[in-house]
Amino acid sequence: MRQSKLFTKTIKELPKDETSFNAQALMRAGFIDKVAAGIYAMLPLGYRVLNKISDIIREEMDAIGGQEIFMPALLPKELWQRTNRWENFDVLFKIMGTDKKEYALGATHEEIVTPLVKKQVLSYKDLPVAVYQIQTKFRNELRAKAGLIRGREFSMKDLYSFHKSEDDLNEYYKIAQKAYFKIFERFGLLDRTYLTFASGGAFSKYSHEFQTLAENGEDTIYICDNCDIAINKEIIDEQKKCPNCGNDDFRVEKAVEVGNIFKLGTRFSKPFGFKFADEEGKQHDVIMGCYGMGPTRVMATIVEVHHDDKGIIWPEEVAPYRIHLISLKGKNDPARVAEAAEKIYQDLVKNGLEVLFDDRETSAGEKFADADLIGCPYRLIVSEKTLAAASIELKTRKDGKAELIPLDGVLKKLK
Ligand code: ATP
Ligand code: MG
Repeated sequence: MRQSKLFTKTIKELPKDETSFNAQALMRAGFIDKVAAGIYAMLPLGYRVLNKISDIIREEMDAIGGQEIFMPALLPKELWQRTNRWENFDVLFKIMGTDKKEYALGATHEEIVTPLVKKQVLSYKDLPVAVYQIQTKFRNELRAKAGLIRGREFSMKDLYSFHKSEDDLNEYYKIAQKAYFKIFERFGLLDRTYLTFASGGAFSKYSHEFQTLAENGEDTIYICDNCDIAINKEIIDEQKKCPNCGNDDFRVEKAVEVGNIFKLGTRFSKPFGFKFADEEGKQHDVIMGCYGMGPTRVMATIVEVHHDDKGIIWPEEVAPYRIHLISLKGKNDPARVAEAAEKIYQDLVKNGLEVLFDDRETSAGEKFADADLIGCPYRLIVSEKTLAAASIELKTRKDGKAELIPLDGVLKKLK
């Protein structure tokens, strides 16, 4: 992508009503635009990051047998009345159609997915099954002050699994947990993300959150360093001990809940009469699990933890572009630098590398400052000085380390 053609720019003046760090950093670097409190638009650079996050999640959900679907966001009231959640789900957006019927904007999809899967699953032979979607969710959040961490419109991956027995659910639940950690590793968040025990509900003693340590996190977690797990606030209030080892000495930290998995049991299969026939033709309630993760919240969390005072530092797998190529034309022979930079750009792109090419007619200072804000992992700088040594400068955003590499070695080095 040529930066001269990118319709968005980095900005210096931020709207005064935006106080969250992640939203400020993303707005300043030209990744998102704010529409209203808790409502943001994704701009080209931001949308690339969001898509990469979603694709990583997609790959890992596919790998554990998840089948991707896409459910509607406009949900009839009757379905929510069935489960008693029309009145009880406190952040539900409700709207009236011209047919005088009421609808909810999708805040979660148990009410849709349960009758949907019921139509396809008749006997034990059809189980287990897992379906998921990555879709926009709507919640009328009270405190929409944390930028993309708590949107009123946001992206969620929600996977639902259906089983013939509790054992089968438990087994899948463990597999899903592993997949989640694989995902956080790819996001560059693994070393600060804790499996966190939270209250469960009627079916299981605990549910599990995935909490990523971050200064501006809205949640407080209690880490047991013996077990490398954590407990969330409500639980700690109830039981005061590590559910694993019984330890009561915790490290207290601020964190962001980036994922949440839950054993639903028959909470949704019962109201929808979702049963299956066993080997003898006897009917049983289907046992369910649900597994949520928020790509937009993840994006914000990555920004909260991977930055310095100059801007964002994207982990490789989620960076908008892996390489930021900067041409500094200079005064003596600007055509030569432009030509060399153009050739490198073409070579890299031809070889499948993702490059943001700063070909703009602006000062070196502005180019460097923008590159710091945007935060691509590798920066390539072509200038009269580097060309005089038949080389190009390669600098890593993370530690600022720079080295000169010969022009004909660029591809090999970056591949
Ligand atoms: P929280 O406790 O933070 O309000 P939740 O427990 O209600 O979230 P779930 O319903 O389990 O969240 O949603 C699954 C995932 O969706 C969460 O782990 C989070 O990553 C994401 N998510 C939930 N609410 C929001 C929101 N308002 N904005 C952005 N992401 C969200
Ligand atoms: Mg929660």
